[in-house]
Amino acid sequence: MRAFLDLFRLDISDAELNRAKFRSFSRHMPLLYGILVSNAAAIVITAFDSGQIVMTVLTPLLLCVIATTRGIWWWRRRDDTRISDAQVAYYLRRTCTLAVVMTLMYEGWCVWLYQEADTFMRSNLTFFLGLTEVSTVFCLMTFRAAALRVALVSTFSFAFYFSWADGGRMLAQTFVLCCVSVGMMVVTINYNRSFAELIQSQRILRLRQRETEKLSEENRRIAFSDPLSGLPNRRELLSRLDRLEAGDQLAPDSLAVLFIDLDGFKAVNDEHGHQAGDALIRNVCLRLRQHCPAHTVLARVGGDEFAVLLEAPGGGAGTQARALAQRLLEEIALPVMVERHVLQVGGSIGLAANSDPAARPRELLRRADTAMYHAKTAGKGQIAVYDPGFDEGRLRRLAIEAEIGSGLNRGEFSVHYQPIVEARTGRIASAEALLRWPGRPEGPLSPDQFIDIAEATGQIHPLGLFVLERACRDIGPLGDLKLSVNVSPAQFRDPAFERQVAQVLKQTGFAPERLQFEITEGYLLSNPERVVRAVEAFKAQGMSVALDDFGTGFTSIHYLRSYGFSHIKLDKSLIDGLAPDSKAALLVTGAITLACGLDLQVIAEGVENEIQANLLRAAGCHELQGYHFGRPMPLDDLVARSRRAGPASLAAGGQPSLRVAG
Ligand code: C2E
Ligand code: MG
Ligand code: MG
Repeated sequence: MRAFLDLFRLDISDAELNRAKFRSFSRHMPLLYGILVSNAAAIVITAFDSGQIVMTVLTPLLLCVIATTRGIWWWRRRDDTRISDAQVAYYLRRTCTLAVVMTLMYEGWCVWLYQEADTFMRSNLTFFLGLTEVSTVFCLMTFRAAALRVALVSTFSFAFYFSWADGGRMLAQTFVLCCVSVGMMVVTINYNRSFAELIQSQRILRLRQRETEKLSEENRRIAFSDPLSGLPNRRELLSRLDRLEAGDQLAPDSLAVLFIDLDGFKAVNDEHGHQAGDALIRNVCLRLRQHCPAHTVLARVGGDEFAVLLEAPGGGAGTQARALAQRLLEEIALPVMVERHVLQVGGSIGLAANSDPAARPRELLRRADTAMYHAKTAGKGQIAVYDPGFDEGRLRRLAIEAEIGSGLNRGEFSVHYQPIVEARTGRIASAEALLRWPGRPEGPLSPDQFIDIAEATGQIHPLGLFVLERACRDIGPLGDLKLSVNVSPAQFRDPAFERQVAQVLKQTGFAPERLQFEITEGYLLSNPERVVRAVEAFKAQGMSVALDDFGTGFTSIHYLRSYGFSHIKLDKSLIDGLAPDSKAALLVTGAITLACGLDLQVIAEGVENEIQANLLRAAGCHELQGYHFGRPMPLDDLVARSRRAGPASLAAGGQPSLRVAG
């Protein structure tokens, strides 16, 4: 019973379902009222009686006015988008009541007429009542509560009246109408159930669609942005460049691209771990973003690579980009505190602007990248503006990179040795191992032309090991001649390097006391802690470490002491200008005096004549190296030379007492 009564209950708890019902039946309401008016008019025409004006004209006229007003009202509510949910609920409630009231009013009027009508008119009226009920229920089909209430009220009143009217002769009609009503009610209930299910499934579909859209938006965001910094990534930058490329022709000098690569970031990663590296990247991104103006797009295009797209529709993109590059370079170079470490990196920036028609947006990115590469190889920490000549240089470097790999496999490399002599006696104290590439099919290259490429690509690790191993095997049998081996910064910061050195020494039987490493000054400045630790570790095993190319950087001699170096090697550029009473002589003498005061041995590099050698000797320099004493030479030449200097020199375990010119 309760379930049955529930069918007649108006449930307005679901706002979406309310609106769907409202939208569905409100479109039929003007039609319904039109039917009611025309049916009433038809009755009025057939039942008109000038003696019964109130019943046959005024009452139906009043009903028709009400119906027409309601019909117009509904017509105006065709568009439900401006009606609030609360209003919809209110209209539903009102319709539910009004539908019953209108039904009763029409029925009342019909019953009134019925009593005064002849047989023909009576059949008209029952027909009118039956059809009016059917059309009302039919038009309210999607509004179950209203439809069922109308059906119930009209059927009940019809059955009640016509069961006794006309002495029960209308019972057959009553029965038929009841059957039709029950049928309509069943259909209405089923239809409403399907209608509610449809709305529910539409709602689920819409929710799923919204979820899918949200997911695909999230996917898009992930695909086009860098998760670490939240900046647009390379893909996003490329798609922006493509959009610019597909758009209107760009005015000359209206677009510029900066390509930024951090200097020394790999070292931070190696020495402080990836977490510190990530924190540093986030910090750099934040600071770069703060300095990039609104009309620029900053993207992270690689691990430590960034690009800035600068649009200047009015022109002058190149100049603006240059000023921005300068600001960014200064910002990047500031030290930052990461996980209780003060970290410092630098930046190399390449710049390209669309000054010529061939410089399409994507091409600009390539050009800026090439320019950055040039800035990097020209000494880092610089800004380079693209020049077509850079392309050639880059292609050449790429070719060399490939050749180094194949050259190592094919045994194209060898090691030469340059004697280092005792300044006082002229005796060869040690030899510096210098890498050579005589077997290169395209012709030999000097280390200056390929070492930094090998460093940038990581190929320095196998190359460096090759030199160390070969030199230990070559120099090992030469008495107690010492060996000096150059170590590049990349090797020095590789945690595996110390282990590899120990392994080579073990395999070759080379005494650690005879081995010295040379590292360049540039590395000290960026990695002081790491250098101190590595130098200590090597010293603990009996090796020594020299600072190479001293005088090309900014390290003070006093500062050097704390690193634990045993030797410094004065760079050739200091020796070049060496002449009596020259400024260079003062400088070199001062440096040597200071170094001696700090117990550091001094080796002078690039000594090319006797004047330089004498000045250095007089200044107290301990060892000399240069063409004046011997160029880098193959092992056989070094051995032959030592033989000429005296038979005792190469006796196994014997004391080398090589003397050279000068
Ligand atoms: P470096 O370690 O400073 O080596 C000295 C360079 O000066 C050598 O050039 C040597 O040939 C040159 N030199 C020596 N005496 C004179 C002189 O009197 N006059 C002139 N004009 N030059 C002189 P090289 O062999 O071309 O090496 C250049 C640089 O390449 C080296 O500078 C070193 O930094 C690097 N290098 C060479 N071999 C290796 C290696 O096996 N590993 C690493 N990591 N670097 C190496
Ligand atoms: Mg050296
Ligand atoms: Mg040097």
